[in-house]
Amino acid sequence: MTDFDFSKAEVAELQEGEVLISSKYVSVDPYLRGRMSDTDSYVVPFELNKPIVSGIIAEVMESKSSRLSKGNFVSGSLQWKETQVAKADGLMKVDSDKASLSAYLGILGMTGLTAYLGLTEIGKPKKGETLVVSGAAGAVGSVVGQIGKILGLHVVGIAGTDEKVEMLKSEFGFDEGINYKTTENMRKAIAKACPNGIDIYFDNVGGEISDMVLFNINKFSRTINCGAISVYNNTETPKSISVQPFLIRKSSLMQGFVISDYAEKHSAGIKQLTQWLQEDKLHNSETIREGFDSIPQALLDLFEGKNKGKMVVKL
Ligand code: NDP
Repeated sequence: MTDFDFSKAEVAELQEGEVLISSKYVSVDPYLRGRMSDTDSYVVPFELNKPIVSGIIAEVMESKSSRLSKGNFVSGSLQWKETQVAKADGLMKVDSDKASLSAYLGILGMTGLTAYLGLTEIGKPKKGETLVVSGAAGAVGSVVGQIGKILGLHVVGIAGTDEKVEMLKSEFGFDEGINYKTTENMRKAIAKACPNGIDIYFDNVGGEISDMVLFNINKFSRTINCGAISVYNNTETPKSISVQPFLIRKSSLMQGFVISDYAEKHSAGIKQLTQWLQEDKLHNSETIREGFDSIPQALLDLFEGKNKGKMVVKL
């Protein structure tokens, strides 16, 4: 918390093509941690003493753009500010009649798309296959597992509390759940939950959990390297098992996934997710914190597993 600072600033004057907006929901996401390190990544690092930027849903208060009017709700990559001026072109209108506003930061936003496109584009699921998801009770993981069930897969989730494991089965329809914090032998527990081996591994956490999954992969299996939250706070390169022999032995694919690489598939993905949500095939799960001051703590709490589903802050 001592690395964060709050300050007051003048709101810029509105220019042609811009809107004055008031933030309603702020997304906190594990990848923001990566932007706080000055290392080579798929997104540029944050600059010191500048506002942090993340997904935000805001209401238009004043407009000098023909695209947006006062009262519209918009989504965009915006600064952590209560009020700000933004270019209308960089914002997307969202429809509060179709879904809750916060859903556009999660299941109908970046994390929902990550789940859908990661699973379908790299996982290439076939009915009857076995899918293992780590970080399973979080924003991406909970949607991956539910889509897996819609597509007819045997779905096993890995999460950090018994309550979350129970939720995977009762709320999201997973077939099995494993608590990685209390299970002594993860390799054996995964094998037991996946009697036919693993065809697809949707990896949100990396590290030791993912090492144990590797022991159970099938021939021609696919791993989606979506996230590695277990190592995001490491200051030294972690020692991990060597993946190559596992992949060779099983002719297995392991591929990194970055949501921005699939921009041309985003609108079709949102259409599919909206349809499943409206048909009640997908359940939207969120942890909602309140107040601008609670944004930094909400971000830190992701690394302690204090969220279920998508963590958002309501202003
Ligand atoms: P989540 O909602 O899943 O929140 C993070 C969760 O990670 C926590 O709730 C916690 O659950 C788990 N976690 C925290 N620390 C550890 C640890 N040391 N070991 C194992 N699990 C841990 O976040 P998101 O759904 O937003 O993101 C999930 C992953 O997907 C992240 O790694 C993120 O960076 C990545 N991502 C990647 C994208 C891409 O384009 N590549 C896009 C979006 C997300 P628990 O209680 O189970 O430990």
